[in-house]
Amino acid sequence: MLKGKINVQTENIFPIIKKFLYSDHEIFLREIVSNAVDATQKLKTLSSTGDFKGEIGDISVEIILDKEAKTLTIKDKGIGMTAEEIEKYINQIAFSSAEEFVNKFKTKTEAESNAIIGHFGLGFYSSFMVSDKVAIRTKSYKGEKASYWECDGSPEYTLKEDDKEDRGTEIILHIDEENVQFLEESKTLELLRKYCSFLPVPIKFGKEKYWEPDPEKKDKDGNPEQIEKERDRFINNTNPLWKKTPVDCKDEDYKSFYRELYPMTFEEPLFHIHLNVDYPFNLTGILYFPKVKKNIEVQQNKIQLYCNQVFVTDSVEGIVPQFLTLLHGVIDSPDIPLNVSRSYLQSDQNVKKISGYIMKKVADKLEELFKNDREEFEKKWDDIRVFIDYGMISEEKFFERAKKFYLFKNIDGKYFTIEDYQKHVEETQKDKNNKTIYLYSNDTQEQHSFIQAAKERGYDVLELGNVLDNHLINTFEQKLTDVSFARVDSNTVDKLIQKDEADISRLDDKQKETIKEAVEKNVDKAKFMVDFANLNDSDLPLLIMRPEFMRRMKDMSALGGGGMMGMGNLPDTYQLIVNTNHPICDKILAETDGEKQTELIKHSLDLALLSQNLLKGEELTNFIKRSAKLI
Ligand code: ADP
Repeated sequence: MLKGKINVQTENIFPIIKKFLYSDHEIFLREIVSNAVDATQKLKTLSSTGDFKGEIGDISVEIILDKEAKTLTIKDKGIGMTAEEIEKYINQIAFSSAEEFVNKFKTKTEAESNAIIGHFGLGFYSSFMVSDKVAIRTKSYKGEKASYWECDGSPEYTLKEDDKEDRGTEIILHIDEENVQFLEESKTLELLRKYCSFLPVPIKFGKEKYWEPDPEKKDKDGNPEQIEKERDRFINNTNPLWKKTPVDCKDEDYKSFYRELYPMTFEEPLFHIHLNVDYPFNLTGILYFPKVKKNIEVQQNKIQLYCNQVFVTDSVEGIVPQFLTLLHGVIDSPDIPLNVSRSYLQSDQNVKKISGYIMKKVADKLEELFKNDREEFEKKWDDIRVFIDYGMISEEKFFERAKKFYLFKNIDGKYFTIEDYQKHVEETQKDKNNKTIYLYSNDTQEQHSFIQAAKERGYDVLELGNVLDNHLINTFEQKLTDVSFARVDSNTVDKLIQKDEADISRLDDKQKETIKEAVEKNVDKAKFMVDFANLNDSDLPLLIMRPEFMRRMKDMSALGGGGMMGMGNLPDTYQLIVNTNHPICDKILAETDGEKQTELIKHSLDLALLSQNLLKGEELTNFIKRSAKLI
């Protein structure tokens, strides 16, 4: 028997190991199982090259819980280690990196240390986070005598011969008092499912029950009776779909893999992208487009990141562009420096390339759908639009790609590319400054009368209406030449698009002044600014408007929480437009009885408020009473 001292300068490394990953020490299981899988894969490789000539046999990795002995054992049938290799790989190499880790750790926060762990290959030693003793029983494929190694969390270890007869390694963790939860079958099962669901070697843990017909026993109808049986429970799918060649996968395979990834999601994805590159970096994966809901946040963080089929995280910020975090699916790459801090990730060249690649693939796929099946693309458009908007607003490069397949939808449900839309409205909707004004509605019910008025003039109205509209409009106004957006209710229809045509009023200035005074006497001047418009005599006598710039300012100040020049609480101010062509103007001018004049104006104002859904409470009651009297 050999007693030795692990060669470390730092006096006692174990208390630090135990502590450093306090919040996340469940990863020990991932580390130890990954090592077992690696050792098994190595054996398979040696066998395929002819360097190992023996029988490979069953190669599954087994996880065994012994609650009484308080041990958790991870057992593989991989290459094993000779005594010499234990010396080299466990005592020296692993420890020198552990030591390096500890030295770095001294000056780092917990989160940063968390990131450093895997980076320094502390894998095996992470088992000390949950154990007060760790033992190794191992027999190398080379056929030498088996070895036993043990260490109790002090720098001293024991190494001796062992009677293990079969090839492979058993790592025996003596779980400490603080971590007894890991002796619960349900906890271990949960962790295995989280980290090991797609490992390339079968992982066996415990038993599961199942039902099988018994041909011997029949029930009273003559059908075989079901009997309960037990079998080994396997945790993982060793050959996940993303590892396969795309041409070998059918549509149905992608759908069922989606269900495997998200058993709690019942909606089907809209389409998928199979990623597969090996140069200049290694990356495989499948991304799914889900139906994007209005509430974007709840859908984020559904992409799972794997490193050689080992689950690492489902928080992919910094690795893929923000807007792509709305996608679902799997990304697997050994080239992403997975264990490094986020700020480091964002500046890493490899990560930048990967992120650029994924963005390009997503754009390729969308463009392909658009080109190959425009009809199908239009059908999906409403569901994917938020996603594309988000990408265009936030990523310059994506905007450049997406402008080719971006679709504007008008309120009649027709779709146009940006280029086609410009052609469609250019002639009718150019203003006197040669700008094309794109009219839009974000609420076809509320803005119904305005939409009708615009249509009667021969204008086209776009249907918008999601959380990102303001940003999207700003982006378009910056990137498209001579295009400006205006909400359909932001002005009276004659002024929505300012043309050069002479706009001669029926009333002279003096008459307008008289009407203005009469109206101002009867309304709240702080709230309404009186103006005139020459509309049809069939339009309302008075109209209420909120100009585009005022609405945008208000929206912005609401978003900015009042940071903008103290405009946090912009009062609600409106334009009150008098329709000069309406007969009411003549009535106001002719009416000598002040009370009757007031009644006329009040009633017209109420109508205007009502058409905008702004007439509420007592005012609404009064209006109804007054209307009834008039009838
Ligand atoms: P890493 O896996 O990053 O190399 P670890 O500390 O996890 O670092 O492991 C150190 C080394 O110990 C491994 O590289 C491997 O050579 C050896 N080892 C660990 N577990 C096993 C195992 N189950 N079978 C064979 N060798 C192992």
